[in-house]
Amino acid sequence: MKWDKKESGNFEDRRGMSGGGKAILGGGLIGIVILLLKMFGGETGQTIGNVIEQTQGSQTEQTEGTKTRELSAEEKELGDFSEACFVYNNETWDKIFSENNMQFQEPGMVLFDDGVNTACGSATSASGPFYCPGDKKVYMDLRFFEELKTRFGAEGGDFAIAYVIAHEMGHHIQTLLGTSAKVRQLQANKSQTEANKLSVCLELQADFYAGVWAHYNKNLLEAGDIEEALSAANAVGDDTIQSKMQGHVNQESFTHGSSEQRMEWFMKGYKTGDIKQGDTFSALLN
Ligand SMILES: [Zn+2]
Repeated sequence: MKWDKKESGNFEDRRGMSGGGKAILGGGLIGIVILLLKMFGGETGQTIGNVIEQTQGSQTEQTEGTKTRELSAEEKELGDFSEACFVYNNETWDKIFSENNMQFQEPGMVLFDDGVNTACGSATSASGPFYCPGDKKVYMDLRFFEELKTRFGAEGGDFAIAYVIAHEMGHHIQTLLGTSAKVRQLQANKSQTEANKLSVCLELQADFYAGVWAHYNKNLLEAGDIEEALSAANAVGDDTIQSKMQGHVNQESFTHGSSEQRMEWFMKGYKTGDIKQGDTFSALLN
């Protein structure tokens, strides 16, 4: 991807710092993928939900921002790239909202190592990148992308990162439009299987919005970028992850959609660039 250094007052780099500020606990973070803790360490299969619940009991206040190590040149470059992507996303959605006579509200973005406290609870790197509707921030441990390559076979590349940031921004758009709240409300009265289906629709719509962002930023694309996004979308499909982690696939437990669906909805957004074409709910629930 072609990019220039861009700065945002809503971007925060907490890598190489101790602590994460005050924990104000709410729940409801939305990630790119349900990752198991064992992916990053030796612990056995806990999902994000478990991680969050377990930490909700211990509301702690930590000293914020003590520097514990220097970032490498490569880490700094990745941080700059993430910040630029964040700014490009804000610019694009500001434009789209204006075109539709709506007011865009910028989210925040936080880079972290290891663990972070958010309005949705404490999270570790094992959560993967996620968006917290409670504080309207995107959280990312960039080491996730190494895992994506080494364990899940994505080809990597800068546009894999751009796709994930754009996906999380998609959750911010859903929060602003009220879609996320509506889905949570619908899920409350549904069976687990039905609730999962709604989650899949929400996640595929975030992939669609990521594609819409790419459509609006065609001028930044280099050869192979869309393939990098598709490779990442393929790697985080529920069927691909389940067959790698547990050796079999259970469609009823899907929360993010199959690899094929994730690539399909990203491409639909990329090709149309039209947010009105992203009704994954009508497309998949009827
Ligand atoms: Zn997501």
